[in-house]
Amino acid sequence: MLHVERITIPNPLKNYNHLLVCTETNEAMMIDPADASRCIAVAKKNGWKITQLVSTHEHGDHICGNDDVVKACQCPLSAPIEAQASIPRVDHWLKHGDTVQVGNITLNVLDTPGHTMSHICLYHDSDNPVLICGDTLFNAGVGNCYSGDSAVLYESIAKFICDLPDKTRIYPGHDYIENNLEFAAVREPDNTRISELLDEVSQQTPDTRLVTDLGMERKINPFFRLSNPSIRKGLLNDFPEMGNSDKDIFIHLRKLRDVW
Ligand SMILES: [Zn+2]
Repeated sequence: MLHVERITIPNPLKNYNHLLVCTETNEAMMIDPADASRCIAVAKKNGWKITQLVSTHEHGDHICGNDDVVKACQCPLSAPIEAQASIPRVDHWLKHGDTVQVGNITLNVLDTPGHTMSHICLYHDSDNPVLICGDTLFNAGVGNCYSGDSAVLYESIAKFICDLPDKTRIYPGHDYIENNLEFAAVREPDNTRISELLDEVSQQTPDTRLVTDLGMERKINPFFRLSNPSIRKGLLNDFPEMGNSDKDIFIHLRKLRDVW
């Protein structure tokens, strides 16, 4: 079975680092270490051996711990093939349709550019499906596109994430749910699920933060609710010239979230 250990990094960017553990072999795959020593200590304490390291994308806060993990654990590093110019010392380049393996656990590589133009997610297809989404998708939001392209992010999510099962638990690279819910509440003020969840989340700490699934995201995340009348009406007030396709709605929501 796959166990996902979410490790809170107490930095200003509120990173979450993840260890994907095969509970049968106690082997672990490290994802995007921002603080290598903290992650290695968690693995050691639990008796897990880090045998794989994967980068979802090239941003410094996701790859800065790579060298220290490789040095301490002697494990190979895998990263998206489009990041050949930007992620150093990679052993295996990953492309869409590849799989990665830790112990008896297999994960599928999804090519999801948009936040950066090279970005992968990992999907574990099982009775308890899991999506490791880096900065593509967040709880109640999506990644920024300052070094990417919001139209491309829309396509990635529409193609590879929208059709995954409701029960898919999502594990993004940052703890941004509170801010994202505040934005969502403004865009869709009549959605009581958003305000209720915001109350709940505001009582939590980064360590106790709710893990959402895609079923919940479809109810509260504006970027999954592109045909919602309130969201559309509000956006058309702000951008009267905009088109009305789902992609237009997504891109303009992202524009507003950028300046939120
Ligand atoms: Zn990033």
